[in-house]
Amino acid sequence: MYLIPIPAFSDNYLWLLHDGKRALVVDPGDAEPVLRALAQNSLQLESILVTHHHADHTGGIAALREACGAKVHGPATERIPQPFSPLRGGDTAHVLGLDFQIIDVPGHTAGHIAYYTSNMNGKPLLFCGDTLFSGGCGRLFEGTPAQMLASLDKLAALPASTVVCCAHEYTLSNLRFALAVEPGNADLATYQSRCERLRKDGLPTLPTSIAQELLINPFLRTRQPTIMAAARRFDASAHDDNTVFAAIRQWKNQS
Ligand SMILES: [Zn+2]
Repeated sequence: MYLIPIPAFSDNYLWLLHDGKRALVVDPGDAEPVLRALAQNSLQLESILVTHHHADHTGGIAALREACGAKVHGPATERIPQPFSPLRGGDTAHVLGLDFQIIDVPGHTAGHIAYYTSNMNGKPLLFCGDTLFSGGCGRLFEGTPAQMLASLDKLAALPASTVVCCAHEYTLSNLRFALAVEPGNADLATYQSRCERLRKDGLPTLPTSIAQELLINPFLRTRQPTIMAAARRFDASAHDDNTVFAAIRQWKNQS
């Protein structure tokens, strides 16, 4: 199987997974770059996986369905272009010979889902939309900090080797914030240098892995004493898991 991040808009990635003949695409906000990639690689688009309803994740669905007859899978409780096969946490979607487990990850939107498969080329694979980014997490448009923390906890509990496909190239700005929260984190400084080199060469910093994010992502590290102390410097009332997470998220919004 081949995994390709197709750049779209200013900082989206539309993830394409294919076996040389058949393909799936995740969150096609735009049809044009997907159709180009399909033509370049002589691929048939079989399925479209959707994580949440935002236009930069759904804008290309209708045109791709029209052009390729692809079957659409999406979150049961969100409004995305009909018809689609509705999925909820605990469901399994069989796509391209893979079984994707559906994980409910509310927070960025109320019905946001993630797609996880335990073996793609020997490694687990996650499509997490706008829930988890490298060095960051999605903004809380429709959910509470407690919901987002619970969602991120589910993703953090996946195998460390999980290949994590995020929907935006936000890594460098996330890492600048992460270093403000945790200036003494040596893994963070190393990772920032690596990501800066990649971007300088015009390459994506993604996919990332759960192991990498556990080392550097402040939103997966809110129970670390350094992060709890930093949260309290921003908001003295931060005192438990949810309020520490909320303080870090609020700090990021203002940074
Ligand atoms: Zn979004």
